[in-house]
Amino acid sequence: AVGTVGLLALGSLTACGDDSSNEPGGSDKTPKIGVILPDSKSSVRWESADRKFLKEAFDAAGVESDIQNAQGDKNAFQTIADQMITSGVTVLMIVNLDSGTGKAVLDKAKSQGVATIDYDRLTLGGSAEYYVSFDNVAVGKLQGEGLVKCLTDAKVEKPAIAYLNGSPTDNNATLFKEGYDSVLKPKFDAGEYTQVADDSVPDWDNAQAATIFEQQLTKASGKIDGVLSANDGLGNAAISVLKKNNLNGKVPVTGQDADPQALQNILAGDQCMTVYKAVKKEADAAAELAIGLAKGQRKETGQTVKDPDTGRDVPSVLLTPAAIYKENVKDVIADGYVTKDQICKDE
Ligand code: BGC
Repeated sequence: AVGTVGLLALGSLTACGDDSSNEPGGSDKTPKIGVILPDSKSSVRWESADRKFLKEAFDAAGVESDIQNAQGDKNAFQTIADQMITSGVTVLMIVNLDSGTGKAVLDKAKSQGVATIDYDRLTLGGSAEYYVSFDNVAVGKLQGEGLVKCLTDAKVEKPAIAYLNGSPTDNNATLFKEGYDSVLKPKFDAGEYTQVADDSVPDWDNAQAATIFEQQLTKASGKIDGVLSANDGLGNAAISVLKKNNLNGKVPVTGQDADPQALQNILAGDQCMTVYKAVKKEADAAAELAIGLAKGQRKETGQTVKDPDTGRDVPSVLLTPAAIYKENVKDVIADGYVTKDQICKDE
């Protein structure tokens, strides 16, 4: 820890033209990483995977960390960030709840000399040092291709498709849609498929997703042949509605996150596919960059993503997602993401 004397010494160094201590997250402080997760309801991943893998990575490096969850509350998010900055974190990593409030948190941290990382979701207009995520357009592409594969296997002619998109405030939802639109739009345009619904689910709220899907089904007079659902929570909501209408297993539904529930749905034949994102790799990459920043080191990631709001090239790490069908559910178990017990308990 740096005492008053140390601070004074650094102060005079700065006066002499060496401003290395002003580097965000600079090396004069003991490394401590703060992480704010978004909620525990939009996906089980945040608490069951991200928290665990991040903690393991920090612990393995012997670096102190403080991982908290804003539980979907934007004010709480801000308060947690303020407390973390006051408590002396050297690096702050966030999964924003929306770009506006995320940007406020990032800018404030920066003004206090705390380096920041956008974890999983890019904060539009933000100031993070790094963005660590998956190739999210590729995630959406796998979903679009998955739906086409399942509809083709089921030999459905001119299928009627409903979209359950992610939260409009999550930049990832925009990227996922870009990906599945690139596969499905040409089919709508060619009259091969018809699109009967296209709705976003606020905050990825699973309960609202069920209501929205119920309305979609009613509006389509019960004729929906395939559901492009942006993640497993939304997909499971659609499946619950399909079950009530004795349509489960007949209507392919997509997903994302390889939730235990979704893997069960896939094995039961109620869900077409999910997208597995190796969260351990994401957490390890983010932790490594955070630890570097905390020690005042800036690593090259070899890749950037352009912030569409500012045109800024944000140094990024984008990992590769994988499509999971009935045949390769076992790969997710082999990778250690879920246990056999978690998904086979009912069999
Ligand atoms: C993440 C998904 C997750 C969703 C809801 C997205 O930003 O990339 O993995 O399912 O948020 O939490």
